[in-house]
Amino acid sequence: MKYRLMDLLACPICKKFPLLLLVFAELKLQPPRSTRKCELYCAYHNSRIFDLQNPDCVTCYTKEISSGMLICDGCGRWYPIEEEIPRLLPDELRKFNEDVEFLRKWKEKIPEKVLKEGKPFSLKEQV
Ligand SMILES: [Zn+2]
Ligand SMILES: [Zn+2]
Repeated sequence: MKYRLMDLLACPICKKFPLLLLVFAELKLQPPRSTRKCELYCAYHNSRIFDLQNPDCVTCYTKEISSGMLICDGCGRWYPIEEEIPRLLPDELRKFNEDVEFLRKWKEKIPEKVLKEGKPFSLKEQV
């Protein structure tokens, strides 16, 4: 997914916007032909557009996040980004084993709070 997408994504459960983005791995893309800008929130600059002096959103369109995590500080949920796809699924469609495996895989890069208290699954039982 592109940084750009963060300007559009809200938590599917509690609707909180913006979500917090953690990037674990990214790819570089060709720059887009036209320069567009994020409209409300720019994840690359981690700021609302209103607060940016001179928003340069070229980077938002030229990087593809291949692995990462979206965190909602409204309800405490986290969502994986895998193979460039953010998976914003409701709790009942998530798989415990896959989620725990994802947390283990990126453990070093995930905040303590998410590892221990993240919803719907955490490593609480394991660590
Ligand atoms: Zn931007
Ligand atoms: Zn939420």
